[in-house]
Amino acid sequence: MISHENSETKYYTFENLSGFDQICHFVSTRKGGLSDNHFASLNTGFHVGDDNFKVLQNRRILANAVGIDILKLTFANQCHSANVAIVNESGRGKGVLEKETAVDHTDGLVTNVKDVCLCVQVADCVPILLYDPVCQVVAAVHAGWKGTLRKIASEAVAKMIQHYGCKAENIYAGLGPSNGPCCYEVGPDVYREVKISLGQAKNIIFPGTKPDKYIFDQWQANVRQLTDAGLKKEHIEQSDICTQCHSDTFFSSRQDQGHTGRFMAGIMLKKPKYTA
Ligand SMILES: [Zn+2]
Repeated sequence: MISHENSETKYYTFENLSGFDQICHFVSTRKGGLSDNHFASLNTGFHVGDDNFKVLQNRRILANAVGIDILKLTFANQCHSANVAIVNESGRGKGVLEKETAVDHTDGLVTNVKDVCLCVQVADCVPILLYDPVCQVVAAVHAGWKGTLRKIASEAVAKMIQHYGCKAENIYAGLGPSNGPCCYEVGPDVYREVKISLGQAKNIIFPGTKPDKYIFDQWQANVRQLTDAGLKKEHIEQSDICTQCHSDTFFSSRQDQGHTGRFMAGIMLKKPKYTA
């Protein structure tokens, strides 16, 4: 990933997506916001118990830094589902000023509408951004362990193909900072569910250092889901940044015992600057 810093905040972009002029995308950090304590400082989530005014100001700081009008940011009320919603013109800005108007009960957003910035919010779950430069379609996905097992990444690719006629081999993907295999220990219940959902799941879940504990490699699980869906391996960028190891830069739910803020990943098709 590429790091960007100005006087107010710091954010990242994926190397593989940064070469495309037609899109703007970002992954935020917890730097440079107004929130305090567990939410310090650039918490972008309304739903975690932070002061809504500060959250809105934080979103404004981020939007300014990445050069996107804040009213173009579009959010979902995420629920660890495999639901993927198509966002049209009227969806622009949903959930940006208040939680209630966000696209409900959804963990994946897809659009071909310009100037709609699809956003997902995370703290350890995997944020995934997708882009088809041929059909000009973008998607943002929130994949925690539940969403990963429910195959939300595959669902998003399927939606891009079915609804917009995308071809999987044209799609690029970026997997943002999240729980890495260095830290993501799960119990026997998750182990069982991974085995049921992902079959043999070789190299995806394996014994940890403590008895009855397993390491779940949700990066590998999602990369495999995307390559199984037809994406080229060389089109997929994995940030390899673990949120638990880097909880000074990114919110980590596990590191903060569930009481923490959210950082976000967003992607938008830009309107051309002029028309001939
Ligand atoms: Zn780690």
